[in-house]
Amino acid sequence: MPDRRVVILGGGIAGLATALDLLHEADQRGLGLDLTILERDSACGGNLRTLRDDDGWQLEWGPNGFLDNEPATLRLVDRLGLHDRLLRSSDVTRHRFLLVRGRLVEIPTSPGAFVRSPLLPLRAKLRMLGELFIPARKGLGLAAQRPETDETIYEFGCRRLGREFAEVMLDPMVKGIFGGDARQLSLAAAFPRMVELERDHGGLFRAMIALARKRKRKTDAGPSGVLHSFTGGMQDLISAATTALEADPRCRVICSARIETIDRDADGRWRIDGPNCAPGPYDAVIDASPAHAAAVHLRGVDPDLGRLLGEIPFAPMAVIALGFAQKRVGHDLQGFGLLVPTREDRDLLGALWTSSIFRGRAPEGMALIRCMAGGAANPQVMDLEDEDLVNLALAELRPLLGIKGAPAMARVIRHPRAIAQYVVGHPARLLALAERCARLPGLHLTGSSYAGISVNSCCKEAEAVAARVVEELAGLPLPSPSAAFKEDR
Ligand SMILES: Cc1cc2nc3c(=O)[nH]c(=O)nc-3n(C[C@H](O)[C@H](O)[C@H](O)COP(=O)(O)OP(=O)(O)OC[C@H]3O[C@@H](n4cnc5c(N)ncnc54)[C@H](O)[C@@H]3O)c2cc1C
Repeated sequence: MPDRRVVILGGGIAGLATALDLLHEADQRGLGLDLTILERDSACGGNLRTLRDDDGWQLEWGPNGFLDNEPATLRLVDRLGLHDRLLRSSDVTRHRFLLVRGRLVEIPTSPGAFVRSPLLPLRAKLRMLGELFIPARKGLGLAAQRPETDETIYEFGCRRLGREFAEVMLDPMVKGIFGGDARQLSLAAAFPRMVELERDHGGLFRAMIALARKRKRKTDAGPSGVLHSFTGGMQDLISAATTALEADPRCRVICSARIETIDRDADGRWRIDGPNCAPGPYDAVIDASPAHAAAVHLRGVDPDLGRLLGEIPFAPMAVIALGFAQKRVGHDLQGFGLLVPTREDRDLLGALWTSSIFRGRAPEGMALIRCMAGGAANPQVMDLEDEDLVNLALAELRPLLGIKGAPAMARVIRHPRAIAQYVVGHPARLLALAERCARLPGLHLTGSSYAGISVNSCCKEAEAVAARVVEELAGLPLPSPSAAFKEDR
């Protein structure tokens, strides 16, 4: 059987993980594979990139790390031989802070600490207890088929735990994870587990009690995971993945590829056109570029598909990295960082105390703080010049952390379309996308635009997509001799 030809569009973590899983899966099935990865930029990695300078600062362009509770990511780390470079976050990261009425308040981690905490007023704490008596909503788990049953994270929070909880705790959490607005994002799409818990247990407290009992019986370590990175930052994952792919004779990685159009031949094989693109034909296309890019190159294949992809909004974000001599920071920075609820009316979404989270991120005696600004609710800050963004971050951090003097290092990283926003209607849109793709055999969509924005979600989905594609290819009829003749290599 001739090798099956597959092209992956986009060399971010989603594309690279899918490529590695595809090669592994093809090995398992004894399927001959010829794999091409087309990446728009001059190097692979997408959001995963680590910047280092000669003074000893090491900072992340995008993700800070990943939780060690996703087996697919751990399998990838294993397969790439990266275990020795895994870096566990410091134990101090369990201390996390919220800005409440202008002051930093630690998020309590036990029921007793929660009762004593000034985070919420007494009436809000009593309202939270009322969660036990609120019946489960009807239509849970049907947001894709019946979009009218979808609800925002904010609505869910108000309904089950009260408005104060939604505004003080849920709102900043959504900003921290998605750069998003809890009043816009779909609970079913962003936190599907919450929907399951309410549906299966009747409420969140009931679910917590049931799961705690189950864990006790299984002496399970718990589902939440510990944040990890690598000694050389998230770049280690990308460098190892790229090296492994380039060393595999079945694979070629092409950077600076400009995809202009994608077409299907009369016999259903796929062709890619554009400068520096290997044109194919291919038996399968796995599009791992962000939905806004896929919307452009797939609209010629199917205008409805292009429209649906283009409807997924993205939030912009600016990362403002600031370095200080530790002695100039009044706060001990023993923690993960702080998040800012919308009602505090600040420009920053939050700040991570990076040098407290992972060792080796700042020179000796220095502290690295990574601030986030922008997001879905405050995109206008992206219009500011870099210097103004630095000043904005300094003005908001100084009184909170007792910072004196100018930073020893300042760097602004801009993400014009940082993170896909799973707004209400996202589950229905995913269903419609799946229906459109089902009419285009060989075409698969993957990546953080769809079913999970985290590195872990990308790795988990990569395994599923790779298995599906290999299954599909193993059952494919052989290409006609004329099609094989047209091949570009
Ligand atoms: C500031 C920030 C902080 C984050 N923090 C975390 C975190 O701490 N933990 C976490 O798990 N996640 C975090 N995330 C999310 C994380 O970055 C994503 O999960 C992950 O990067 C998504 O990978 P991806 O491959 O889907 O997309 P991307 O990383 O966007 O990669 C897509 C790739 O496709 C390429 N491309 C685009 N258009 C085309 C085209 N037309 N043709 C070919 N290639 C194309 C791009 O150049 C890019 O390389 C963060 C994101 C941001 C922006």
